[in-house]
Amino acid sequence: MNIILLGPPGAGKGTQANILIKKFGIPQISTGDILRRAVKDQTPMGVKAKAFMDSGALVPDEVVVGIVGERLVQADCAAGFILDGFPRTVAQADALKSMLISNGKSIEHVLSIEVNRDELLQRITGRRTCRGCGRGYHIVFDPPKSAGKCDECGNELYQRDDDSEATMAKRLSVYDEQTAPLVSYYGNENLLRRIPGMGSIDEIQSAILGVLEGGCR
Ligand code: AMP
Repeated sequence: MNIILLGPPGAGKGTQANILIKKFGIPQISTGDILRRAVKDQTPMGVKAKAFMDSGALVPDEVVVGIVGERLVQADCAAGFILDGFPRTVAQADALKSMLISNGKSIEHVLSIEVNRDELLQRITGRRTCRGCGRGYHIVFDPPKSAGKCDECGNELYQRDDDSEATMAKRLSVYDEQTAPLVSYYGNENLLRRIPGMGSIDEIQSAILGVLEGGCR
C-alpha cells in the first residue's frame, strides 16, 4: 500500500498519516519532520534547509528527493509507505516516479485532502507541538489540560516558526504555485482521489478508509 497524502499546510496530512500508520503498520515518510530533525541536530543538510523553512519557501528539490530516495529503500517500506508532504513540485513527482520504477514499485493512491483557506489559517496558527515527545495540539480544537504543557510528558509546547500568520501566507502561496499542479498531475495518471477535509478527524479518516479499503478509483 503505497500512498501519497497531498494537501496544503494544515489540511491534516500528518494527523491522518498517524492514524494510518497504526491501522496498516506502514511507515509515514514526512519530509517536513525529517528536515526539522536535521535542523534541530544542526546537520549540514539542516543548516542548509533552515532559512528556506523559516521563510516558508520550499527546500531545493535535490535535497528532498535525496531524503526520500534513501528512506524508500529501507526495509520498513517493503509493505508500503505513506508519503506526507512529498512530492511538492512536479520535478519531485517526476523524480519519485523514476525512483519507484527502479525499485519495482508504484503509487496506488494519491489522496488530496481539501480544506478551505480560512479553516487552514485557523488550524495552523493555533497549532502547538511538544518539545519533548513531539505530540501535536491545537489551542482551540485540541488544547492540553494545562496551558502550554504536554499532557503526555509535561514538556513545554511551542509554535513552529513557520506556523506564524506571516509565514503561513507565504506557505499557502507556495502551495498554490508549486504544489497544487500535482492535483492535475495525479488526476491525469488516474491516481487522484479527493477527500473532503473539513469534517472531524474521524470523518476524514472514514473517507480515506473508504478509498483505501474500497479499492475503487
Ligand atoms: P511540512 O511540515 O510538510 O509543512 O514542511 C515544513 C517545511 O519543510 C516546508 O514549508 C518546506 O520548507 C520544507 N519541506 C517539507 N517537505 C518538502 C518538500 N517535499 N519539498 C520542499 N520543501 C519541503
